[in-house]
Amino acid sequence: MATKARRIVILGPPAGGKGTHAKRLAADLGVPHIAIGDMLRREVAEGTSLGRTAKGRMDAGELVPDEVVEEMVLSRLGRPDAARGWILDGFPRDREQAEALERQGVGSRVELALALEVSLHEIVERIGGRRMCRSGHVYHVVTNPPRTPGVCDVDGEPLFQREDDSEEVVRHRFEVFERNTKPLLEFYD
Ligand code: AMP
Repeated sequence: MATKARRIVILGPPAGGKGTHAKRLAADLGVPHIAIGDMLRREVAEGTSLGRTAKGRMDAGELVPDEVVEEMVLSRLGRPDAARGWILDGFPRDREQAEALERQGVGSRVELALALEVSLHEIVERIGGRRMCRSGHVYHVVTNPPRTPGVCDVDGEPLFQREDDSEEVVRHRFEVFERNTKPLLEFYD
């Protein structure tokens, strides 16, 4: 994609392709891909206190409290590799988070917001086959299978299905997206 923007947010429903597009775009632009869901899952896996706070909400398909996520993201954006820009995947997810980003000042102002549109029907079809490894490499058993079934091509780690990828939880995550995140399309005009 030809763009001069270097501070980009990607908005989209669960399993809507945010991670896939964010990764490609970050590699093209030479800026870090910052995936909040991956950061949270790492905290959960390591059993940190933040991870313990987040886990119940994540498993239920609810948003983790704003202040927890904001602190994590804003401190990540302060690292040297983010000085020239970033692709934010999964943040902001509500108006309060979008405003928190704006409050950081000019150097954190979003230059481009991309929105992915995928129907609930298609999402439900996709999640049944989605698999990932601990480091966040994502596959689909039919449309993007690993070379060896059940094993990550990149790091040889076992693949698993996310706990929040059950149909029931995904339907709820979609509702949360419609209610909290979709209004950001207007916020970013
Ligand atoms: P994702 O990997 O982007 O689908 O995110 C997985 C889960 O992490 C979400 O369903 C939320 O529970 C939590 N999460 C990720 N990003 C945020 C955020 N910006 N605010 C609150 N919770 C989040």
